[in-house]
Amino acid sequence: MKTAYIEHIGIAVENLDKAIEFYTNLLGTECYKIEEVEDQKVKTAFFMVGQTKIELLASTDPEGPVGRFLSRKGEGIHHIAFAVDDIAERLVDAAASGINLIDTRPRKGADGLNIAFLHPGSTGGVLIELCEPQK
Ligand code: ZN
Repeated sequence: MKTAYIEHIGIAVENLDKAIEFYTNLLGTECYKIEEVEDQKVKTAFFMVGQTKIELLASTDPEGPVGRFLSRKGEGIHHIAFAVDDIAERLVDAAASGINLIDTRPRKGADGLNIAFLHPGSTGGVLIELCEPQK
């Protein structure tokens, strides 16, 4: 699988405003975008660190994926996103190599990306997101 770089790291947080303040102070850089992704029941906030983003994820619904993650595991790293050159093809390759897919085809994620998740049961416990810019 040809991977270009780590596009972002997703971090689940209980309180988005507090987390934004924390990362603004820690990184010395402003949050450049706040975006709600209704489909995923999350409100996201982005920081740029080099060419990699920090994606803060606050739940808007306790039954959504991040809501369930927070109640099960608490705050912390939620997923790692790798930028790939052809996400649809990468998904076919991943499935062919026996990886369980959460998303069998790409869908629209936050910050102008097409995204798809691989199941952590197939990846050593890490929720992996593949992504590429929407064309
Ligand atoms: Zn993500």
